[in-house]
Amino acid sequence: MAFIIFAETNESMLVFKSVDELQFWLDQKRSEGHSIGFAPTMGALHQGHLELVKKAKSEGDLAVVSIFVNPTQFNDAKDLEKYPRTPGMDMELLMSVDCDAVFLPGVEEVYPPGKEYSVAMDFKSLDSLMEGAFRPGHFAGMASVVWRLLEIVQPQNLYMGQKDFQQWTIVHEMLHQLGSPTHLVMCPTVRETDGLAMSSRNTRLTPEMREVAPIIYQTLTAAAGLLQTYPVAEVVAMALEQLENAGLKPEYFCLVDGFTLREIENRDSSTFVVACTAAWAGDVRLIDNAILKNQEA
Ligand code: AMP
Repeated sequence: MAFIIFAETNESMLVFKSVDELQFWLDQKRSEGHSIGFAPTMGALHQGHLELVKKAKSEGDLAVVSIFVNPTQFNDAKDLEKYPRTPGMDMELLMSVDCDAVFLPGVEEVYPPGKEYSVAMDFKSLDSLMEGAFRPGHFAGMASVVWRLLEIVQPQNLYMGQKDFQQWTIVHEMLHQLGSPTHLVMCPTVRETDGLAMSSRNTRLTPEMREVAPIIYQTLTAAAGLLQTYPVAEVVAMALEQLENAGLKPEYFCLVDGFTLREIENRDSSTFVVACTAAWAGDVRLIDNAILKNQEA
C-alpha cells in the first residue's frame, strides 16, 4: 500500500503534521516488523537532541522525533514567546543523523478541542520540588504532552536526556504508574567543551554570561568532593555562594535522592545522589545536574 502520499518528504526523511497521517505510516512500519524509537523535543535542536536520535537508531529500526513547543508547560507567557525556533536548521540536523520521521504538529493536532488532555498520575510531590517549586504547573503540562505524544506514536523506546533529570524521573514514574509498555532510556547530558550543558536557551546568553556559565557544571561536580568532608547544608551554601560570586543568580542548588528527588540528610542517606541546580545567567534560566553517587547502576 502506498503511504507516503500524506507526508512532505525531505530527501529520505518524512515530515508529518497530522496525527492520522503519522499513525498511518507508523502502523504500516509496525506491520512490517519495524521497531520505533521516539524522542520528543521542542526544537531549536543541538547535538544533545541529536544524540537521542543516534541512540534510537542504534537500538531500533526507526527514529521518530517530534518538534512541538508545548504551551501548557510554560507558566510564563514571555518564556514561551522567547523560546527559540529554528525549523529549517532542525530539519537539516535531523537528516544528518538519519532520522526517519519528524512530527511537526500544530496545537490543535496535539490537543483537539473539546477533549481533556491532563494525565491521571500521582506525582507524589515529584512535581512540586526544585523546578516544580519555581515553575508551577510545568510538570503537569510536560507529563500530559509526553503522555499524549506516546498515545500517538506508541514507540517501543522513549529517549530522553539526563539534562532534564527531574523531567526524566517524572516520566519514568508516569510510565510505571500507568503501566505503559514503552521503555524509557536515559541519554547522558551532552556538553560544550567547557562543560556547559547544551541547551536551546544557550543561544540567548550574552558573551559575558556565556563565559561564566560553565561554572554551573564545575560547581555541580565539585559537590561530590565537598560532600566527603562537609555536611550537606554547608556544601549547598558553598555551591550557592560560588554561583553568586560568578555573577549568576541561583534559584536552588539541591543534593537529592535520585528516585524521590527529596533532599538528602547526609552523604550516606541515599545510594543515588544527584546534584541539581537552576540559575539565571542574565535573563536566561539554565538548569543542570550531575549524578554524584549511583550505587544502583
Ligand atoms: P527540549 O527540546 O529541551 O524539550 O529537550 C528534548 C529532549 O532533549 C529532552 O529529553 C532533553 O532532556 C534532551 N536534551 C536537551 N538537551 C540535552 C543535552 N544537552 N544532552 C542530552 N539531552 C538533552
